[in-house]
Amino acid sequence: MTQKEWIEKMAPCAVKAQQRFGYIASVLIAQACLENGYGMDPKCTVLTDANNVLGMKRELLNETWESSYWHGDFITKRTPEWDGGMHYITDDFRKYDSLQDCFYDYCQFMRDARYSRGGSYKYRDVLSITDPETLIRTVAGRGYCTDPEYPESVMRIIRQHGLTQFDKKVTVIKSVRSMMAGFGKTLVDLVAANRDEVPEHNANSHKYLAIHYLGVDNADNPYLYGGGYGGHFYVPIDGRKAYQAALVTDKIWHVAANSKNGYRYIHPEARNSNTIGIEIGTFRDSQGRWMFTEEAQETAAQLAAAILTVYNIPLTNLLRHGDVTTKCCPMPLMPASRGGFEGQGSNWTWEKFKSHVAELMGSSQVAVSDVLQKGFQGDEVKQLQEDLIALGFSCGNAGADGSFGDDTHAAVVAFQRACGLMQDGIVGTDTRKALGVATVQAWLNRLINAALVVDGQYGPKTHKALVMALQKCLLEVYGCRISMDGSFGPETKAACRMVAKGDKGLLVSILQAGLLVHGIQDTKIDAIFGAGTEEGVRKFQSKVGIEVDGMAGPETFEKIFKE
Ligand SMILES: [Zn+2]
Repeated sequence: MTQKEWIEKMAPCAVKAQQRFGYIASVLIAQACLENGYGMDPKCTVLTDANNVLGMKRELLNETWESSYWHGDFITKRTPEWDGGMHYITDDFRKYDSLQDCFYDYCQFMRDARYSRGGSYKYRDVLSITDPETLIRTVAGRGYCTDPEYPESVMRIIRQHGLTQFDKKVTVIKSVRSMMAGFGKTLVDLVAANRDEVPEHNANSHKYLAIHYLGVDNADNPYLYGGGYGGHFYVPIDGRKAYQAALVTDKIWHVAANSKNGYRYIHPEARNSNTIGIEIGTFRDSQGRWMFTEEAQETAAQLAAAILTVYNIPLTNLLRHGDVTTKCCPMPLMPASRGGFEGQGSNWTWEKFKSHVAELMGSSQVAVSDVLQKGFQGDEVKQLQEDLIALGFSCGNAGADGSFGDDTHAAVVAFQRACGLMQDGIVGTDTRKALGVATVQAWLNRLINAALVVDGQYGPKTHKALVMALQKCLLEVYGCRISMDGSFGPETKAACRMVAKGDKGLLVSILQAGLLVHGIQDTKIDAIFGAGTEEGVRKFQSKVGIEVDGMAGPETFEKIFKE
């Protein structure tokens, strides 16, 4: 293997790891070159065989963290160690299922390792460093490696091979909808409309994605459910939009085989309980062949790329219905030997469909990240900036431009300082929750002159003010005879109205504020009960164990507003 081939092998894994964790790809690739002599050092082949190209030891002393990508296997080998001079020592090293797991594991270590259990993070802030030299010197300076020449060796490799070409800006997305928007397509939400037709909620582990065709002449109807058959997603014949008819956690009957329908399973694992479905609308051409339009295939490929990315499903788990059972579906993408029309007329081949999905996944620099940090961009970042600016934290002259640079980093740090949080400039769960609470506090100060300290902490004073805002609304907007005592009792509960998607007004705003203080981030306070608010209500209902219907009535209000 040449140096170039080694780099080409490492780069995709490093780029994916950067997308997920922010640790820049050039440094990861250079480290993988250095640790293994570009895969050519015979002393390193043991580690390469274990997929451990980043030299991750089995025990990472003094550092406490949980690994999601390593399952406990290890190998033992001799390794050079710097101790005022080079010595060889014998050590245990982690063995990974894949190269990608090694890169993820390394980055997760950088993100989550602490000096001691419950103590402060050892490296987490380096994830927002975008300059390779600063990054590797910072990591080395905290004792990551024993060799004093390490940073310079890494930098030499980066310069020699121009590895910074792999350090790209990353767009953060968190839903299939936002990724489809990136492709210029609207994903229409029909989940609520189909809710009653779904056979089983929360019974799909979504490990696979299956493609179907609607074998109905000129099938162009997005309301798919008839007795629970259909797909989670739907692309009509013209491919201009896509539709979501069920949640990916819903189990619907789209790849079943049984004696009744006469099909057999040919896939060992894919079933209704672990597979998402996309239905594509069809037409019949003059020869009676089932056809997909070019546009419908393009949109379906985009949808598949978005679903695989967002739910972290490997490309190898993208299937046709006909790969799961003996049914010839989707007929336009099944071979003639199975009775299909693959590659005929406007129909693509299945290979073309899959390679286009791969291309779409690779070309879009998107990250499904639960944190926001320097170097990221997109609508999520823009929303964060708007929230910070509204709270009086300037994000620089560019304002809310959707790009997380130095000014936004400084604003986040200032906000974290104001809230007594760790000042790492990274927006994770704690900072997000504090932002939500602070936004509610500032809003309550305007709405009812609550005189709350805007500190991002949900304490008794903020809780009382929030309940008083609810009572004031029930009193003034709905004319309910209740007292504004800031305590959610039976009479307040009885006075609560039902609000659902499409509703507008103050009660919706108060509901949204209630979701925010509970750390549900899908909504903002805008008085409009839209898809985000509905998703938030659903999440909250599921979290507290009440019926999940996405509508907020007295039961839901009680769970949100009673302490
Ligand atoms: Zn099918």
